[in-house]
Amino acid sequence: MGLVKEIIDGSKTLLSGMKVTWDNFRKPPVTSQYPIEKIEMSEAFRNVIVLIEKEDIGSHDCIDCKACERVCPSFCISLDGERPEGLRRKRATEFMVDFALCSDCGLCLDVCPTDTLGYSKVHDEAGYHRSDFLYDLIEPWADKEEAARKRLKEIEAKQAEERAQRAAARKAKKAVKKPSRKPSGAR
Ligand code: SF4
Ligand code: SF4
Repeated sequence: MGLVKEIIDGSKTLLSGMKVTWDNFRKPPVTSQYPIEKIEMSEAFRNVIVLIEKEDIGSHDCIDCKACERVCPSFCISLDGERPEGLRRKRATEFMVDFALCSDCGLCLDVCPTDTLGYSKVHDEAGYHRSDFLYDLIEPWADKEEAARKRLKEIEAKQAEERAQRAAARKAKKAVKKPSRKPSGAR
């Protein structure tokens, strides 16, 4: 009797184990064959900060305002820039980030006036030295800089024209509204 009970119990355990295997077999996989296969990171994923391309410029839009450098609690941003001839805005020429210090707090993204900062989606960075985590965010954009400056000049010229048109329209409106002054006692 004892043997029969053992066989029944063993079969039940085996069947319940097989049921779990079968159930999971039908579900989509939750693991990937890394590094052959790489999963896409979610929108909320945070890694080292990067400069984001702005469609109208065809490059990043860092104006070297240094707001991100000032707000960073880890002091890991250091940047420099110049005002190119014929442009109102400045352009960053160097943008160093020490990712070994970065806490991914996101404050730099929050203060950026041109929304040109984002997070990299790379999730498997590794290195042997701290210097391996010192990134120059400008360097990948070097090839696009000349075209971007040309495009910015066109954008700024258009903006200046629009400003002049608005100012002229305001002036004309004021001139129409202004009541004519009659000297006191005049009929
Ligand atoms: S995410 Fe935070 S710590 Fe990292 S660079 Fe930006 S402000 Fe500094
Ligand atoms: S806050 Fe934005 S625009 Fe200003 S320096 Fe930083 S990345 Fe450039």
